[in-house]
Amino acid sequence: MIVVLGGGLIGLGIAYELAKRGAEVRVLEAGEPGRAASWAAAGMLAPYTEGLAGTPFEAFCARSLALYPAYVEELREAGGVDARLKIDGIVRAAYTETEASALRAQVDAARQSGVEAAWLERREVVRAEPALGPNVLGGALFAGEGQVDNRRLGRALASACAARGVRIDAGGGHVALEADARRVRGVRSRDGFVPASVVVNATGAWAGELAGVPPEARLPVFPVKGQMLALAMSRALMRRVVWVPGAYLVPRDDGRLLVGATVEDAAFDVRVTAGGIRSLLDAALAAVPALRDLALVETWAGLRPASPDGLPYLGATSLEGYFVAAGHHRNGVLLAPATARALADALEGKVDDAARPLSPLRLGAPPSALAS
Ligand SMILES: Cc1cc2nc3c(=O)[nH]c(=O)nc-3n(C[C@H](O)[C@H](O)[C@H](O)COP(=O)(O)OP(=O)(O)OC[C@H]3O[C@@H](n4cnc5c(N)ncnc54)[C@H](O)[C@@H]3O)c2cc1C
Repeated sequence: MIVVLGGGLIGLGIAYELAKRGAEVRVLEAGEPGRAASWAAAGMLAPYTEGLAGTPFEAFCARSLALYPAYVEELREAGGVDARLKIDGIVRAAYTETEASALRAQVDAARQSGVEAAWLERREVVRAEPALGPNVLGGALFAGEGQVDNRRLGRALASACAARGVRIDAGGGHVALEADARRVRGVRSRDGFVPASVVVNATGAWAGELAGVPPEARLPVFPVKGQMLALAMSRALMRRVVWVPGAYLVPRDDGRLLVGATVEDAAFDVRVTAGGIRSLLDAALAAVPALRDLALVETWAGLRPASPDGLPYLGATSLEGYFVAAGHHRNGVLLAPATARALADALEGKVDDAARPLSPLRLGAPPSALAS
């Protein structure tokens, strides 16, 4: 039996993939599945807008983006929930010459990776997104990117997991790992001991805190707080995801325009603050004055799971039977499909070139327990 700790997009995605490959899987979730960072996110699928072209992380991100259409369709068929994928391009707008030249370089880097990206002159960017207003200088269009409704994706995964026979135990509080000197024995929850030969730590921002992990197998994962808000817009206002300096704007089919996100070092504090919301509104209104009269309908905050080198941890650790899939920081929604496959492959002893830079063993933990 395989136990997956954490029922976010990462844990549920892994559980679904493992069940598909024939494993008996149980997910233990401290709170409610799909309600932590996976619920708080904006759902952008944006590796090139994020400037990841040319980094060691690019291949893994590109793979996950490519998997998305079939992934969403498969989950819809398996569990009946459509996560509403839209790959209709992301516009990143420039308001100063400095921003424009940095964006042109980003377009060039993406093109060198073979990605469809274009620099748009002022009139082209206004034609594409008229709300961008009078002061925009130009912008970059990354055509192969877009968004998914991450809250619906969480529901789609939970439903597809149930259809595949995955047992999801939610609301049981924080679960601890149980291991002896050599290997994993199982996990301990409020309801008692659950034996397991394999445990996957997919506990997001809490992954570094998991009780019972021996010191040599611990990984440094820490929370990075993000606050967001939603405005009620008329449907014609904005068509695609748009980045402006200091904020991004994500139009949803239900008429909400998401505005995100702050990046704060605030430990596990998820309060929405006046200063956080003001900074987002200042950035959004400066770029798109037409937002001024829209109703503010929702505010929230979540915790990105970050790692010191900016890459997730994905795969086997120095403790036999203990696997980690955490630290996806700003890109966990994007990376859910590729993570699920790579972790299931790692359980079968397979690691390919795109996933290799993400090994938890990159920190120098001795692989002796794995080899023995
Ligand atoms: C404001 C904001 C905007 C974002 N926007 C984007 C975006 O546009 N695109 C993108 O790709 N990514 C985005 N992200 C990042 C993305 O949300 C995360 O990388 C991703 O959701 C991480 O998923 P996860 O399953 O690892 O963590 P989570 O969704 O946080 O799930 C972890 C789960 O583990 C549970 N848990 C913790 N400890 C235990 C324990 N001991 N036992 C059992 N369960 C436990 C928690 O209750 C939680 O449900 C954003 C994040 C934030 C906060």
